Amino acid sequence: MNLEEAIKKSIRDVPDFPKPGILFKDITPIFYDQQLCSNIVDGFISRMDEMPDAIIGIESRGFLFGFLMANKLNIPFVLIRKSGKLPYKTLSHEYALEYGTSKIEIHEDALKPDCKVIIHDDLLATGGTAEAAACLVKKLGAKVAGFNFVVGLEFLNGKNKLINHSNNITCLVQY
Ligand code: AMP
Repeated sequence: MNLEEAIKKSIRDVPDFPKPGILFKDITPIFYDQQLCSNIVDGFISRMDEMPDAIIGIESRGFLFGFLMANKLNIPFVLIRKSGKLPYKTLSHEYALEYGTSKIEIHEDALKPDCKVIIHDDLLATGGTAEAAACLVKKLGAKVAGFNFVVGLEFLNGKNKLINHSNNITCLVQY
């Protein structure tokens, strides 16, 4: 079984969560399988065409493989969190949701100017969250070298929002 097949076999579809009409891609069963987790980290790393200076993980499922990747590459891991969660001085970025807005934050000293980062999350849907993360990275003067996700929901065209920041976009599996 290749990596894509193994990931698809592990992901559990949960209909109507968190609200009616959403088919939630539950990645939690992946974490029961240590070998699959290692293969996912290696899969991300082997698809990188240049070594980033840091990995950015988006709250909260983006912390899981994001941190493992950074640790294996021996580079810093930086957290982007929802508003009000980070304790030190932050920069924030507000972005539109289907209904209303949301705000994410990063510590103001988290990235050196001009450093190149990969932005990671578990899943790319409309791309709004990852795009907001890219805006925050740029506010700190750093550069977006790419994005990576375990899952991409292709029919939502999230990549269109991200290509303005980087066309280096990896999804290990697509639906
Ligand atoms: P978006 O900003 O629309 O790309 O949404 C991406 C964020 O929402 C990620 O942090 C995902 O974890 C979460 N998300 C959106 N849709 C789903 C889905 N169908 N299944 C699981 N997570 C989702």
